[in-house]
Amino acid sequence: MTVLLAQTRVIAFGAHPDDCDIRAAGTAALFKAVGAAVKFVSVTNGDAGHQTMKGPALAARRLAEAKESARRLGIEYEVLDNHDGELLPTLEVRRQIIREIRQWNADIVLAPRPNDYHPDHRYTGVLVQDAAYMVVVPNLIPEVPALRKNPVFLYYEDNFQRPNPFRPDVAVDLDAVIDKKVDALDSHVSQFYEWLPWVDGKLADVPAGAAERKAWLKKARTRPINPQVRASLIKWYGPQKGNEAQYYEAFEICEYGVQPDEARIRQLFPMLR
Ligand SMILES: [Zn+2]
Repeated sequence: MTVLLAQTRVIAFGAHPDDCDIRAAGTAALFKAVGAAVKFVSVTNGDAGHQTMKGPALAARRLAEAKESARRLGIEYEVLDNHDGELLPTLEVRRQIIREIRQWNADIVLAPRPNDYHPDHRYTGVLVQDAAYMVVVPNLIPEVPALRKNPVFLYYEDNFQRPNPFRPDVAVDLDAVIDKKVDALDSHVSQFYEWLPWVDGKLADVPAGAAERKAWLKKARTRPINPQVRASLIKWYGPQKGNEAQYYEAFEICEYGVQPDEARIRQLFPMLR
């Protein structure tokens, strides 16, 4: 008898229309390859992130870039119309997040940790945590049916050490999809080739040619594997594949939401099976 496993439904939140891509585009590509449903949501419209553009014109450009990234990954991408650089953990935005998670009928919710240099990232983490129980409470936002099961909430990797360093509970081997991830990042021209290098005073380093700048982006956006991540890769893939992996994304299980055991993680992340 063939047992058909239910399709995993994944929703990822980022503060800006490129954040989900940075932390999870490779995992999204692998999920798509096994038939999962994946949606990225940017909680702000990105209308402050540029050195020469701003306001509605910038928001429109960034929406188009997000849609192009979604097209390249084969996923859905929604950009909420909240101002960039001014996000606060209000009830109004919490309701937007609860609606998104419920409407997607999510099994997995990805979000930043709530400690970060950027207030929009920080509050996106807080907002998703604040939604982590409320998605199952029917009396809140009754017009969108509450979930009957709480999803698994996971955090993206970051380098912040306080109050506690990131713990790579799940590490996903990206070797098969790293170029697809870079291809998704490459959609965000206003960010990776204009704004972020400008902020860092490195605009002159960006190569002119399309292929050259993509290769430059790949180098800039991949990092060596630390011992904790390596141990996690070995745990999930075994010693051979776990030691060979060169590219990865990692996630930490949030204490809120349902707490999955190892078997449940393998069920939800079919690429680990
Ligand atoms: Zn951001």
